[in-house]
Amino acid sequence: MLFDIRVKESLRDLFDRDDEIEKLRASLNEPLVVVFGLRRVGKSSLIKAVLNEYAPSNYFYIDLRRFEESGYVSYRDFVKALEDSINARVRSRRLLSMLSRIRGVSISGFRVSFSWGRDRVMLADILDSINDWAGDEGLRAIIVLDEAQELVKARGFNVLPVLAYAYDNLRNLTFIITGSEFRVFTKFLKLNDPESPLFGRAYVSITLKPFNEEQAVEFLRRGFKEHGIEFDRAEEVYEELGGNPGWLTLFGYRALRMGFNEALNETRREAVDLIRREICNFINEGRHLAERRYLRILEVCVSGCRWSTIKMALEAMEGRELNNSIVDSLIKALLDYSLLIKEGNTYVLPDKLMRDAVIG
Ligand code: ADP
Ligand code: MG
Repeated sequence: MLFDIRVKESLRDLFDRDDEIEKLRASLNEPLVVVFGLRRVGKSSLIKAVLNEYAPSNYFYIDLRRFEESGYVSYRDFVKALEDSINARVRSRRLLSMLSRIRGVSISGFRVSFSWGRDRVMLADILDSINDWAGDEGLRAIIVLDEAQELVKARGFNVLPVLAYAYDNLRNLTFIITGSEFRVFTKFLKLNDPESPLFGRAYVSITLKPFNEEQAVEFLRRGFKEHGIEFDRAEEVYEELGGNPGWLTLFGYRALRMGFNEALNETRREAVDLIRREICNFINEGRHLAERRYLRILEVCVSGCRWSTIKMALEAMEGRELNNSIVDSLIKALLDYSLLIKEGNTYVLPDKLMRDAVIG
């Protein structure tokens, strides 16, 4: 059902995305796949639907969104998330027995638990075991790190060297990494940074975009049709909410339960609230002292503008000249968090809801 608001788990429930499905399916033997797209555009749904179809018994799904509200991620947090991802899926005695041989691992029944204390388990050991198991079974083990930008907040450990080790040595592992913020590239993977352990490694990149008008209209029509309703106001919905499948799904779900206007208003309000919360979270992170500056940049970019216009707007607000490097670093932070995007020489807000959130 298209208007089911949970993450879609099956290809049957996924609307469109044929190219992305095919690209992901064809990449399941590659060492590294990065799936990028804004929140609620359908990254988790794409990955789960494809893996449930083509690799149902050999993937491990680590949901890093659970750390969204935390200020940092400790080794214990990460190890627990990994433990949960294994316990959620493991039905293989052989994998458990391989894991049981490494330091810091205990098994009870079909549950594995990792220690993070003095005899802490080593991530590389866990990956070694999974790799050996996959080899024995003639499978590829697929490890999903969903919303990996959260790992930028890792304290006291670093996943990247382990990823690089796995990339180079563990031939039966595939990593699928998703990100809804550009930070996943610039601050976490740093694939283009010579200092990064992953520098220069090839990877497959899949970018999910919101639906265009035609797709959004078809999505809504088909969704209502599943409930026996002929829907002819899809263009109005697209006009208000844009093409992000998450918001269209939520609208459809609500419209089946309340009136059209109410469903549209509520969905719009919720989307705008969420975006505002994201802006606030971003601005409130201790190191971002320049909240007025960030807000001013977002305001002037509502209808798109160039670097020089941003600089002038900031200088006008503060009544003094600003260093170019300050302007650069403010813009860069907004780009990293995908609160701003760059199209050619123009900086713009990513979508209409974001514009609504900023205009207020
Ligand atoms: P993300 O992981 O990018 O935040 P999700 O996979 O959680 O996005 O999807 C957000 C919402 O949109 C969910 O309710 C999901 O069911 C719906 N959705 C996303 N993409 C599609 C699609 N292609 N077809 C049907 N529903 C979708
Ligand atoms: Mg997701």
